[in-house]
Amino acid sequence: KPTIAIVGRPNVGKSTVFNRIIGERVAIVQDEPGITRDRLYNNAEWLNREFFVIDTGGIDLGDEPFLDQMRAQAEIAIDEADVVLFVVNGRDGITTADQEAANLLLRSKKPVVVAVNKIDSPAMQTQMYEFYSLGFGDVYPVSGSHGIGLGDLLDRALEHFPDQSEKEYDEDTIQMAVIGRPNVGKSSLVNALLGEERVIVSEIAGTTRDAIDTPFEKDGQEYVIVDTAGMRRRGKVYEATEKYSVLRAMKALERADVVLTLIDGEQGIKEQDKKIAGYAHEAGRAIVIVVNKWDAMEKDEKTMQEFTQKIREEFQFLAYAPIVFLSAKTKKRMKNLLPIVKTVAENHSLRVPTNVLNDVISDAVAMNPTPTEHNKRLRINYATQVAIAPPVVVLFVNEPELMHFSYRRYIENKLREAFHFEGTPLKIYARKKN
Ligand code: GDP
Repeated sequence: KPTIAIVGRPNVGKSTVFNRIIGERVAIVQDEPGITRDRLYNNAEWLNREFFVIDTGGIDLGDEPFLDQMRAQAEIAIDEADVVLFVVNGRDGITTADQEAANLLLRSKKPVVVAVNKIDSPAMQTQMYEFYSLGFGDVYPVSGSHGIGLGDLLDRALEHFPDQSEKEYDEDTIQMAVIGRPNVGKSSLVNALLGEERVIVSEIAGTTRDAIDTPFEKDGQEYVIVDTAGMRRRGKVYEATEKYSVLRAMKALERADVVLTLIDGEQGIKEQDKKIAGYAHEAGRAIVIVVNKWDAMEKDEKTMQEFTQKIREEFQFLAYAPIVFLSAKTKKRMKNLLPIVKTVAENHSLRVPTNVLNDVISDAVAMNPTPTEHNKRLRINYATQVAIAPPVVVLFVNEPELMHFSYRRYIENKLREAFHFEGTPLKIYARKKN
């Protein structure tokens, strides 16, 4: 998915512009307990084109001096974005900090669109002209707080998006992403996977800008580890920030079938681990929870069971995800991983025959009657699987409002018992049809 990154010094109105661009998408259809979100990254859509927006100002870079922070934000934008949206304050004119950021952006040769913010009325438009001298060509007057001018701005930004990429790999190839907080061992795991197989074909640049994909083969199955660019590109200030790791995760997820979400077994489960896993769940990817650094964990015969239980409590939305304990460093238990990846990938694209699906649902309803409300009972007339990866099941019912969360969960569990959906989210929708 193309990415727009918003850059600018504090108080120019970056978040206001960001919120305008993402619109009201914050309202989530099925809000699940236990999932928290960052507000700095979001999906947006303009002219039917979907993209990511990043507010780099929200990435907490600690106590770095102001200009260093600006620089780091510009670097994130340059590294991550297809288009940089440079927001300046039309009422202040060009400041030194604006000029600094502009110089970095100019040197990068990234497409930059300048939004001159706080131009709330046509009379104020004369104030935008001085920003032409920044050197980015046309500038766009906007008012984030009044929602003016954003359409023209986005039209221009979209012109810089890359052409929509084709499907890059053979359909049987399993695309994997390794995600997790800084230092959980993502690059170690990738190296362990590749080192073990010793069949690194070659690193080929994906069609997505600066994503590096590494294909390999094991037991006749083709795999690709997608978007390891962020794991290789090291040494920048922002690489080690937790919020940045969320962004990396979101981008890697885009192109993966199976996601390995890593936890540092030595450090235990952190809030950020849940956040990152939550994105994978919402994206509908097949998921394997990998507890790394097994070698360094203090353990007895109960450790695995206890850690598993803790994961089940903390990651309730991932009840379906298998858990693998291993050490990327010593390679202990590594051989368990790929067979599980393969299984969950298969489950992710499993298609259940309609008659069998309907039999399972009839049995489920017979065992545990559908809910009623105001003397009306939910009736499930027919079920059909409408999609794979992840599987989506639509239930045609008399009254969709009667389909409560708990009953949907019950049906989900019955489907999981009957079919092999381990490792994959399963979406179930009720639609009205008599
Ligand atoms: P990343 O930031 O998630 O890519 O993490 P790295 O792969 O760079 O690993 C971070 C640190 O954890 C490094 O010092 C690794 O040597 C160490 N590490 C990674 N995997 C293991 C493991 O399985 N056991 C132990 N003890 N250390 C590990």
